[in-house]
Amino acid sequence: MRTQVGIIGAGPAGLVLARLLHAAGIETVVIEARDRSYVEGRQRAGILEHGTADILRAAGAGERMDREGHRHDGIELRFDRRRHRVDFPSLTGGRSVMVYAQTEVCKDLIALRLRDGGPLLFGAEALAVEGADTGRPRVRYRHEGRERTLECAYVAGCDGFWGVARAAVPAALSRTYERAYPYGWLGVLADAPPSHDELVYARHDRGFALLSHRSPTVSRLYLQVPADTDPAAWGDTQIWDELERRCATEGGGRLTRGPLTAKSVTPLRSYVHEPMRYGRLFLAGDAAHIVPPTGAKGLNLAVGDVATLARALVAHARTGDTALLDAYSATCLRRVWQAERFSNALTALLHRHPDATPFDDRLQLAQLDRVATSRPARADLAEAYTGRPLDGVL
Ligand SMILES: Cc1cc2nc3c(=O)[nH]c(=O)nc-3n(C[C@H](O)[C@H](O)[C@H](O)COP(=O)(O)OP(=O)(O)OC[C@H]3O[C@@H](n4cnc5c(N)ncnc54)[C@H](O)[C@@H]3O)c2cc1C
Repeated sequence: MRTQVGIIGAGPAGLVLARLLHAAGIETVVIEARDRSYVEGRQRAGILEHGTADILRAAGAGERMDREGHRHDGIELRFDRRRHRVDFPSLTGGRSVMVYAQTEVCKDLIALRLRDGGPLLFGAEALAVEGADTGRPRVRYRHEGRERTLECAYVAGCDGFWGVARAAVPAALSRTYERAYPYGWLGVLADAPPSHDELVYARHDRGFALLSHRSPTVSRLYLQVPADTDPAAWGDTQIWDELERRCATEGGGRLTRGPLTAKSVTPLRSYVHEPMRYGRLFLAGDAAHIVPPTGAKGLNLAVGDVATLARALVAHARTGDTALLDAYSATCLRRVWQAERFSNALTALLHRHPDATPFDDRLQLAQLDRVATSRPARADLAEAYTGRPLDGVL
């Protein structure tokens, strides 16, 4: 098989790229290792930056998001049994975020892709990217029990952290930067209406907690736990009690409880692979970088990368100019490192390190108090959380 842009992976990065290129008349083939129901059901992110929502709208994938998603104009910080709201629009010149689950983003994009008639092969596992530094790169993949080859002008490695595309960059040219955190998130889905209108980020001596939601009837809740925690070791009542304890405020109410329908532990990791381009292979999203989920940046970075890549590929197709393709890696990495900085800082601000001393605890509380009481500190948080504009991409 032959195409202009071979896309490995039908996560948010691969699906948005396929959609943007289709709209510009550029032919693509998307190959995805898993089946459709797995990709559509995988519980992950839920916060879309202002610019991400704009890109989805521009891609024609914003209709259901605007109907069923929830615009959030702030978050609540809780520490020392007190509540502090960070109001986004007043601190950022009108920006906000959209609460709309990654599962729904993927469902919308898959439906559009299939309606567009563009090839999207489920159960097609890429084995390797070959000839990335030649004029005719290829993706070797397995589909329906047979090994096949996809010949492309360009390959987009959108295959997530565990994919194969990154391995095509020679080790001598690769630089990786990594941090593993000594804690993870126990994440649960609950058939329970949200206890609070906005997301609640709580710092407690027993660890971090986050109250989030997926819809008016489904809550998404997280607890900081040691990285090697077995989710089965936590009973449902124990989880609700712990969430309530960590989020408690003076005179504060109880959480609305309900049955837990999913439970998993995600380790927290920061990771960047440089460069994000090798020859005709472009890495995008989790294939190139990972952030701890505290700043809600993973999905947003993935969409930012492919919007940048789509613009560069379209410019090249229309004018033959390779300037934007040549700048792709450096353009994305500037934004990636800002997200790494913010995600790491917010993680350190809100989580309790297992080796924290009483001095560390007081410093952490002083830092939180500064965010609560200083407008510039709150504005800095609000600007990073809602995301910087993707200049020139739309
Ligand atoms: C458990 C978990 C929870 C998360 N929670 C949050 C959160 O709360 N907030 C947040 O912002 N971010 C969160 N993230 C991160 C966010 O979901 C990711 O940043 C986002 O999914 C990145 O999109 P992507 O398209 O780059 O990669 P992915 O979504 O990982 O998509 C990659 C796709 O490639 C496919 N693939 C892999 N290998 C191959 C292969 N060899 N051949 C073909 N296809 C392949 C995979 O099946 C997958 O469909 C979470 C991630 C995880 C793992």
